[in-house]
Amino acid sequence: MLEKTRLVNPKQVRNQLFINGEFVDAQDGATISVSDPHDLSELTQIAEAKAADVDKAVAAARAAFPAWRDMNPSDRGRLIMQLADKMEEHFDELTELESIDTGHPIRDTRRLDLPRTLLNFRYFGGLADKIDGRQVPVEPGFLNVVKRQPVGVVGQIVPWNFPLMFCSWKLGPALAAGNTVVMKPSELTPLTTLRMAELMRDVGFPAGVVNIVPGYGHTAGQRLAEHPDVNKISFTGSTATGRKIIEASSGNLKRVSLELGGKGPNIVFEDATIPAAVGGSAFAIFHNQGQACIAGSRLLLQESIADEFLSKFIGLAESIKIGHPLDPDTEMGPLTSKMHLDRVLGFLEVCAKEGNTILTGGGQPSDPNLKNGCYLRPTIVEAKPGDTVYREEVFGPFVCVTRFKDEAEAIELANDTQYGLGSGLWTNNLQRAHRMADAIEAGMVWVNSYKRVHPGSPFGGVGQSGFGRDLGIESLNEYTEPKSIWINYDADIPPFYPRS
Ligand code: NAD
Repeated sequence: MLEKTRLVNPKQVRNQLFINGEFVDAQDGATISVSDPHDLSELTQIAEAKAADVDKAVAAARAAFPAWRDMNPSDRGRLIMQLADKMEEHFDELTELESIDTGHPIRDTRRLDLPRTLLNFRYFGGLADKIDGRQVPVEPGFLNVVKRQPVGVVGQIVPWNFPLMFCSWKLGPALAAGNTVVMKPSELTPLTTLRMAELMRDVGFPAGVVNIVPGYGHTAGQRLAEHPDVNKISFTGSTATGRKIIEASSGNLKRVSLELGGKGPNIVFEDATIPAAVGGSAFAIFHNQGQACIAGSRLLLQESIADEFLSKFIGLAESIKIGHPLDPDTEMGPLTSKMHLDRVLGFLEVCAKEGNTILTGGGQPSDPNLKNGCYLRPTIVEAKPGDTVYREEVFGPFVCVTRFKDEAEAIELANDTQYGLGSGLWTNNLQRAHRMADAIEAGMVWVNSYKRVHPGSPFGGVGQSGFGRDLGIESLNEYTEPKSIWINYDADIPPFYPRS
């Protein structure tokens, strides 16, 4: 039934590398099989970039850089906005392809992934001609201006959890600022990125400005990170890979920004509006099957309301409709890969060993239609500081619950992590909200909400969640170098070496 309503045949997506404005095979002809998380069948095969292909893509980006840098910024911005318009024309196709490839429910790709992608591209398209510098009031007779120039060729390495959205987060500011790009999507979910490359070509992006090289991390990703002619790497992915990126990038001391893992505390105080907190906390962890770096994966509950909250929260979790990603009623699809499902299931074994009580979930759904896919029931586990599942990022529909007495203990628990990315709190006490927002060590704090993201607001972390920011005006700092220019227009410079 669902098969018949499909608009997209993944086998018809351009499945080659996109280098210098053309779709080309890998130089050694290698391919990667891309599988359907619903049943592990093969969706299609795509070309696999290796070091030689990455070199070719970097050379194309380098050659395209001067003209792109020197283009009228308004024209750069207009192209970025035209890309958004073109993607919007292909809304149904792109959302369906994203759902098939990643397992995101279609209602989410339609309501969140693609609308946010379009918003981001439009925001950064609009910023292209507003990246101004400043004039510094120095000594009389001198004009000092600080210009912001693009860094050059940027390598962008992204994970599999929000492929289209990450394209807009990374490409938007980099292109607006006049950089050229080599992007390596995840080997697991490259399809919408390749389709976007075709649309970029259609709207007239010059050849070489954006190059797309799907491939494995240890080959294509590693080469991009170490490449001597890449000026900057912007990476989103795991903390372990982030460390490797830093090592690989040291050869030419390229600039690096890292968006890494998280273990977001989501704190519910006794003065919260409980129904809103229950719904918001479910979104915080179960949206996208929990595969979000900012997921609220540590639920901290004030003791006095913990039982009431949990009975409602468990009820909501058990009512979430799990199903095929293209079914419009589906609220939770499969995890994105079998490898990842096995990793998350491994945490359940850890729970058994460490004695964590599983309050609900803890396994795959019994529906026979889902038996071959990467599905997992929403899982709620009691855990205490020190337990593995309290400390490590599970990256699944898996939340651990811990109780606290008062605000001081909530702060201590919230900050008891190596990470510092997303965080949330639920309270109707305004002063407490501000105190907590100041005290939580994280890049983002949401009060009476969770996972709000907007292109104008910076996104990134502290500690082992990385450094640098995507989104916001701040992201333009990641893609520009300040250049200080001094002009003597009327200054009498005293002689430093007086000679008669
Ligand atoms: P990952 O680190 O395994 O892979 C991310 C990307 O890096 C992929 O494209 C992969 O091919 C590539 N890669 C792997 N090894 C590499 C290497 N040695 N050199 C260069 N590139 C390499 O992460 P993942 O499993 O794809 O994604 C999940 C992780 O991403 C989670 O930890 C999650 O928290 C994190 N994440 C962070 C953010 C954020 O904004 N902070 C957003 C989403 C996901």
